[in-house]
Formats: sequence, structure tokens, C-alpha cells
Amino acid sequence: MQHCEHPENAPEYEGLKVNKGIEQPAAMNPDIHNRLKNIKKTVLTTDEYVEGILKGDINILSQAITLVESAREDHKNVAQELINRCLPSIGKSVRIGITGVPGAGKSTFIESFGKYLSSEGHKIAVLAIDPSSERSKGSILGDKTRMEELASDPRAYIRPSPSAGSLGGVARKTREAMFLCEAAGFNIILIETVGVGQSETAVHSMVDFFLLLQIAGAGDELQGIKRGIMEMADTIIINKADGSNIQRAELSQSQLQTALHFFPPHESGVEPKVMTASAYEKRGIKEIWENILCYCSKTQQNGYFDEKRGQQAKYWMYETINEQLRNHFYSKQKDAITVAEKKVLRNELSSFAAAFELLEGYFQDVSFRKNDG
Ligand code: GDP
Repeated sequence: MQHCEHPENAPEYEGLKVNKGIEQPAAMNPDIHNRLKNIKKTVLTTDEYVEGILKGDINILSQAITLVESAREDHKNVAQELINRCLPSIGKSVRIGITGVPGAGKSTFIESFGKYLSSEGHKIAVLAIDPSSERSKGSILGDKTRMEELASDPRAYIRPSPSAGSLGGVARKTREAMFLCEAAGFNIILIETVGVGQSETAVHSMVDFFLLLQIAGAGDELQGIKRGIMEMADTIIINKADGSNIQRAELSQSQLQTALHFFPPHESGVEPKVMTASAYEKRGIKEIWENILCYCSKTQQNGYFDEKRGQQAKYWMYETINEQLRNHFYSKQKDAITVAEKKVLRNELSSFAAAFELLEGYFQDVSFRKNDG
């Protein structure tokens, strides 16, 4: 054995030599840097957003709607700028509201109606107002198994309701999403709402035409439809008019049509219609669309169409002012409100005086900040 400094360095122990090891790649995934670059790129500039939306790029449209729905101040500012810059391309669509109790067949109807419109060459965006929705809980339209066929139609875009919040907030976001869809070239907007509360009034304040879906035979009380909602409807559809249900549907149709005569006349000057349909068998769908077109042409001629849109725009201006003022007041006066509430409960202060004190404090704070600035 050759003399070595250390036995481990002898040739027979070569296996014990510590090798340099296997060459490691620069990163786990050699493509990761390129990918990261692309991910960073998805934070678009306002110009890129506007260009993408106007080109009808669905990914960019979806990202822009996410900005509209975001609670972050910087997102809201970008969203408002986008809407302003898209304004010249907004408004060139027919906006249709669709309501009815759960089970009336809204999603089946929207699927059949949407497919029909798509086959006629239209581009359809489906939005929703559901203030109770939370995306994780399979909200209205959030469940992808609904409207499967329409969802895969390249001429259709389906967006679930903005997640839970105040009705006003959810409705405003849906309205702004509608604007972006219009700018992206969707010429028919369908807005779905559950027929159980106030959301019908909100959707009514942003559409040109309001459809109420009913089922034959079930009484109005059973269907939870309030008289006010029936009064709002431009057309009532008795859905599920198929199989052994056809006769009942036709009877309901004539009864409802008679009942509508006792309702106050519509401001539109167009008498509301009651029609039968089968969303399932795709019957009555074409007639409903023709009825909507006829309504649009009549109201465009008598001026109501534009007048209503103007009133809606004004309504949303005031709604937004009210919402912003309310939010600002309650966030600024949070602590003072807690104190005042206790005083009112202990009868140390009247509700009226407490409210005035809080408002006074708020106005002083606001003007102090203004002078300070
Ligand atoms: P939504 O809750 O109002 O959206 O109602 P869906 O569209 O989910 O429909 C509720 C149920 O009614 C489903 O089982 C549908 O298959 C059924 N349905 C919907 N439209 C029709 C129709 O035109 N005819 C029949 N027979 N059933 C229908």
C-alpha cells in the first residue's frame, strides 16, 4: 500500500472521495423566470385594458370586471377610468332583466334563449344580481354546471354575481360590469336576479326590458312574487308549457292577461304581455325575442327608451352619492356612534339629538380636514 497522508486518500478508497455532486439546474423549473415575467405582465396598463376590452378580449374583460368588483381604492380608480374611457362604446345593447323564484326555470330559459340569440349572430353577456351570493357557496350563476352549453358558446360570456355585499353595492358593480361587456361588443345583456326580494327593483333600474318567469298553476303567493314585481314586468312568461302542462299554462296565460288589465298602465306606453314558453323544449323562445324587439322599436319611437336610460343614469348618480356619503360617515364616526348608541339606549339622549350630534361631529371633522389641507 502506497504511503498516503491519510488512508482514505488511497486509491482503493476512492469511492469515499467526496465528489462535486450532481450539477443542479438554476431553478426547479427552467421556465419559471419566463412564466413569472408573464404573470407580472398581467398587471396591465389602463391603455392595455381599454384596448383589450374594445377588441373583445374575454380575459382582459374578466380582469377589468374583477377591478370593478374590488374593494381596493386603487382598483376602483382604475375601474372608473376604464369605464369613462369606454363610454363612447357603451349603451349599444338591449338590456334584459330576468326574474322568477328559484325553480321557475331561469337558468334553463337563459340557456335556451342565449343559444337562440347566439344562433342569430348576437353576442350575449349573462350577469347576475344576487346580494346573498358568496362565490364559494355555489351562488346563483356561480355554479358552472348551470348553463353548460351557453358557457361553452364562444359568442356568450357568463359572469356570476359579485359576491355578498349591500344590494346597492352589488347592483352598482353589476351595472358597471354590464358597461364593460357592452364596450367589449356584447349586444345583448341578460341580467338574472332571484325573485324573492328587493333585487328586482335594482335590476329594473338598469335594464330596458324586464321579464318575469312564472310557472302555471302555482298561485302568486306560492311563487313569492309580489304584486309590485308583476307591475314592473314588461312581459310575463309562463314557463314549462310542455307535456301535460300545456293546457294549464294556457289557462294561466289568459287569467294573468286579464288580471294585468287592472294594473296601472305602463309608463312605456306598451301593454305588458303574457306568453307561454318551454325553456326545456326551446319553444316560444323566438316569439319572446320578437316581442322584445317590438317593444324596443315602439319605445324608441315614442322616446321612452332613451328617457328611461336617462332616468336610470340619474338614479345611479344619486345612488352612488348616497352610498359613498353613508360609507364615509359610518367609517369616520364609528367610535362616536358606539358611544351615542349607548346613551340612546340608556335614555340619556334622544335618537334625534344623537343623530344630530353625530352629523355635526362629522361635518366639523370634514370641514376641519378641508381647511387643514
Ligand atoms: P331556476 O332556479 O329558476 O334557475 O330554475 P332552473 O332553470 O334551475 O330549473 C328548475 C327545474 O325546472 C329544473 O329541473 C329544470 O330542468 C326544470 N325546467 C326548467 N325549464 C323547464 C321547462 O321549460 N319545462 C320543464 N318541464 N321543466 C323545466
